[in-house]
Amino acid sequence: NSMKPVATPKSKSKASRLDVMAEYSKRHGDKELLNLVVIGHVDAGKSTLMGHLLYQLGSVNKKTMHKYEQESKKLGKSSFAFAWVLDETEEERTRGVTMDVAQTRFETDKKIVTLLDAPGHKDFIPNMITGTSQADVAVLVINATRGEFETGFDAGGQTREHALLARSLGVGQVIVAVNKMDTIDWSQERYQLITKKLGQFLTRQAGFREADVTFVPCSGLSGENLSRPPAVPELVAWYTPATTLVEQIDKLRPPVRPIDKPFRLNVSDVFTRVGSGFNVAGRVGSGFVQPGDKVIIMPAAMTATVKNVFIDDAPEAVAFAGDQVNITLSGVDMVNVNIGSCLCDPSSPTKSATRIRAKIVIFNIAVPITKGFPVVFHYQSINEPAVIKRLLSQLNRSTGEVVKRKPRCLVKNSSAVVEIELERSLCLELYTDFKDLGRFMLRSGGHTIAAGLVEEIVQSKMRQN
Ligand code: GDP
Repeated sequence: NSMKPVATPKSKSKASRLDVMAEYSKRHGDKELLNLVVIGHVDAGKSTLMGHLLYQLGSVNKKTMHKYEQESKKLGKSSFAFAWVLDETEEERTRGVTMDVAQTRFETDKKIVTLLDAPGHKDFIPNMITGTSQADVAVLVINATRGEFETGFDAGGQTREHALLARSLGVGQVIVAVNKMDTIDWSQERYQLITKKLGQFLTRQAGFREADVTFVPCSGLSGENLSRPPAVPELVAWYTPATTLVEQIDKLRPPVRPIDKPFRLNVSDVFTRVGSGFNVAGRVGSGFVQPGDKVIIMPAAMTATVKNVFIDDAPEAVAFAGDQVNITLSGVDMVNVNIGSCLCDPSSPTKSATRIRAKIVIFNIAVPITKGFPVVFHYQSINEPAVIKRLLSQLNRSTGEVVKRKPRCLVKNSSAVVEIELERSLCLELYTDFKDLGRFMLRSGGHTIAAGLVEEIVQSKMRQN
């Protein structure tokens, strides 16, 4: 019976924890889990490249691919067939833009990779941030075409912005896919120029370590050098030692999954499931959860019992940090659980904060941020009105050093430490304690103006029941 717990459900004693760790290794085999985000300027070829990679790795069946090819031919956009692997909805197809962060998995020899396809379109920056804030590593796609690389990199393009954003949100390793090499006859000279410029930018300005930046020449359209060794003579002639994109991905270090930390799950959806009752959905933020576990629901501070844990609609004996789950709860009134509620280990519940100190990275904003600036605070699946109460210091964007104390205002593309007051209390964590749960973003007037990390909870208040 697959529902049988692997450990005594109610107590997470030492013995049961060992069993749980054994189960974790068993489930994931020798393969390491990796959340990968794809970033880069619009039209750099992100969707095409990833779609083609998924196809080569067998994640897309031939029949589906054939269907995409036929459909795209009919529309006169046959080169879009691979991108469609990632763009699922009809609307995206007709518009030719990737809108949501589509999630797809693929496996290499050493890794199980969850792909967070971050759209490059300007309108969809908030989605890109959602994807990036869940990522461990990034593939930065660069269009090598003459003039196009320059547009994406220099003239107000999104290449720099995305790379800076990824680094500020905790992405430590990046593979630069120098794409569309077919359009420049696989020129070594051009490849070297691009890698030199980008290498300098990524290490000196964006703050990546040199060892954590790698480059790979490829073509998402022809599929060259994605999962198979290069065959085009012009590339083979100079590209030694030849490393494919997949080989580079295999070399990435996996992040440390916080399965040892207390259980946390931020609720992203609440629903009733036929036959099992009241359910919540979300990603396990830290620790693990099993049927039979008692949890405390914050900020309501109500306890409940976990009846079932589902992953991909199948009942499981345990779910770990990083898993996307549905959980059936019993012993609690639905009114106490909302999107944004946090299910926690009762011995260490999360705090609900009303005022925080945070490090923020400000984007290309039109109006500088001053004291009292109203914002919308986006965290996990929720958004709440908030106000920037104090400007504590302005930082050097790449080194993090304080360049000015108590600045009067914060201008575009700068970095700062501020105090933010939330209109209602929210369950938050410090970035240092829970990397995934300590990140947020700020929006104003329909634009994303900053991304941030929670450094300190200055004021917290338990909500009255
Ligand atoms: P995205 O906006 O970054 O996701 O870019 P898409 O994947 O939608 O690609 C944008 C355009 O570039 C499409 O017309 C693709 O067919 C084309 N494209 C993508 N990759 C390549 C490539 O490697 N070589 C060439 N020649 N064209 C490409």
